[in-house]
Amino acid sequence: MIDAVLPTYARQPLSVERGEGCWLIDAAGRRYLDFGAGIAVNALGHAHPYLVAALTEQAGKIWHSANLYRVPGQERLAARLAEATFADTMFFTNSGAEAMECAIKMARKFHSWNGAPERFRMIAFEGSFHGRTLATIALAGQEKLVKGFGPMPDGFDHVPFGDHAALEAAIGPETAAVVIEPVQGEGGVRPVPPQCLKGLRDLCDSKGVLLIFDEIQCGYGRTGKLFAHEWAGVTPDIMAAAKGIGGGFPLGACLATERAAAGMVAGTHGSTYGGNPLAMAVGNAVLDVMLADGFLPRVSAAAGRLRQRLEGLAAAFPDVVAAVRGEGLMLGLKCVAPNTVLVDRAREAGLLLVGAGDNVARVLPPLIVSDDEIDEGVRRLETACGAVRAAQP
Ligand SMILES: *Cc1c(COP(=O)(O)O)cnc(C)c1O
Repeated sequence: MIDAVLPTYARQPLSVERGEGCWLIDAAGRRYLDFGAGIAVNALGHAHPYLVAALTEQAGKIWHSANLYRVPGQERLAARLAEATFADTMFFTNSGAEAMECAIKMARKFHSWNGAPERFRMIAFEGSFHGRTLATIALAGQEKLVKGFGPMPDGFDHVPFGDHAALEAAIGPETAAVVIEPVQGEGGVRPVPPQCLKGLRDLCDSKGVLLIFDEIQCGYGRTGKLFAHEWAGVTPDIMAAAKGIGGGFPLGACLATERAAAGMVAGTHGSTYGGNPLAMAVGNAVLDVMLADGFLPRVSAAAGRLRQRLEGLAAAFPDVVAAVRGEGLMLGLKCVAPNTVLVDRAREAGLLLVGAGDNVARVLPPLIVSDDEIDEGVRRLETACGAVRAAQP
């Protein structure tokens, strides 16, 4: 008989009970160091007192009004994010996929609004991930995402990751936008070098094509800047954010320049829940913490320490970990054996990691991770690597 919960997830044997900072506690009371952070969502850890207070205070006022009326929390969060980023305007959603949907629609609308409706195609990179709606799986194009769900919506083209020549050749008179994750997440924690992002920006400008960044995973402090593209000194026309933006409350946003958003006038797009008062209370609270003096530099310092420890681990266990890659606190261990083996042994050692494509185990601790927790996490990882080694033929 089918499970009452649709069995679309290959779940690990851990029943979640509660969380405290970087720690997740299961139903049996066992404590795990959570270096998966709900797939980079719990940027400020679990049950952060400031976020709990913001949410509970809002819960006693109003939960929901729909976007029929002005929502002051939206106006405040949007103004603050506009101040902190390239963006002039933004649309709030409940998830990353919806933020990407908004980005796709906006890019198409931009060109039709400007008299070029034939420009509707988008180019994405192989190994990318942009969500699970029909348009976002078509955009990413990976076989494992689209298989059996066809026909796919038209207008999505794919080029190999890092192949500038193939990208240039793929841009044609129907191309509306190029879409890229500045650090590929699900694809296996693959950073795009800054000079490539610069080259991409120039190429898009010269062809009249919009540039869309998907910073759903790599954004919101993960790399030590509020958004990863800041390291390259280039800006997109449109950008999707989610995951860390709500610290665990479902929230996403599609940010854009005034120029790119020109066609998105009243009535063109909407969401019943998007940007509701609960989400906005938490979103503003997350930003209070992240924009506070010293927060992002501390992420970089923690990242340096973790990276160094993980490089040491890879050197000690070359038969288990082939390489360490990533940026900031978005790190990946390229595994020798199947990555699920390391993820399983780590969990048994009391450390939570997340699998990714290209046989990588992701290390994504909450951004508030302490030096002691980093050291403890790496100790547990050593135990896990030892167990993987011991089981090898
Ligand atoms: C998680 C993720 C998404 C999808 O976000 P959902 O909230 O699951 O819809 C899209 N793009 C990237 C890069 C992601 O990491």
